[in-house]
Amino acid sequence: MFGVTILGNNSAIPTLDRHPTAQIVTCNDQLLLIDCGEGTQLQFAKYGIRRSKLRYIFISHLHGDHYFGLIGLLNTLSLMGRTEPLSIFAPPELEQIIQIQLDCAGTILKFELTFVPLMPEYSGVILEDKDLEVRCFPTQHRISCFGFSVLLQKRKRKLLPDQAKAYEIPAAYYGKLQEGADYVRKDGSIVKNDWVTMSPGKGKRYVYCADTLYDENLLPYLKDADLMYHETTYLHELADRAAERFHSTTVQAATLAATAHVKRLLIGHFSSKYKELDQFLEESRPVFPNTDIAAEGTTFIV
Ligand SMILES: [Zn+2]
Repeated sequence: MFGVTILGNNSAIPTLDRHPTAQIVTCNDQLLLIDCGEGTQLQFAKYGIRRSKLRYIFISHLHGDHYFGLIGLLNTLSLMGRTEPLSIFAPPELEQIIQIQLDCAGTILKFELTFVPLMPEYSGVILEDKDLEVRCFPTQHRISCFGFSVLLQKRKRKLLPDQAKAYEIPAAYYGKLQEGADYVRKDGSIVKNDWVTMSPGKGKRYVYCADTLYDENLLPYLKDADLMYHETTYLHELADRAAERFHSTTVQAATLAATAHVKRLLIGHFSSKYKELDQFLEESRPVFPNTDIAAEGTTFIV
């Protein structure tokens, strides 16, 4: 399973029905959290996210709407008795911010917390774990800010059922074939794995563009992604304000998605001034039809 569950899709000020940015990326049995706006731990509870499966946290930048929920979440994990280690990838100053809050409260977390600093303008691989690879890349924002590209390789080989039947391999053994095993017949002869399976094929990729100006320099990081999230803080009539504040509009996000040939676009980080979101789709879809609102509580399969 490779999916993205939206926990928050609003910018800056939370509203009663929209929360600041947070997303859970499910990579088989591991959960990644990207950004952690205020109230994220309540959204975990609301949408039944299993805290114990959380392994990695990625914070794009240090505007509060992307990390004010972090200290609360860490505190709760410790109170709930977590012992598994947790890693946070973030701009380096975050370590101090969290540490001072823990120190002033005399809190000692019950689990090991590792900070991996993302230095300004860095791009490259920051995590490899089993079938998972995460890269970061800089975006154009008022302060140092990172997007994240999550690649999940396919684990199992593709079974060719007709071939497997032709070699009289029992169905109970198909699982082993998908893991790459050869089959030994009763007479001792071997059926090679690649006679009855195919390579698992390319992995899938989710790209999270964080907060950013419209920026074609991002294209190499986005190209051919299966799913891309891009902020649309404003409708396109406010393109000037978006540029001033280092944010993007509907038309800009959709244009980038089309140019990068991604398969599907999610939009979010909506300004609190908008009560209804329909217009965001009305402006994006003519430019890039396969666009959806990053609706809270919805899981999008990559
Ligand atoms: Zn920001």
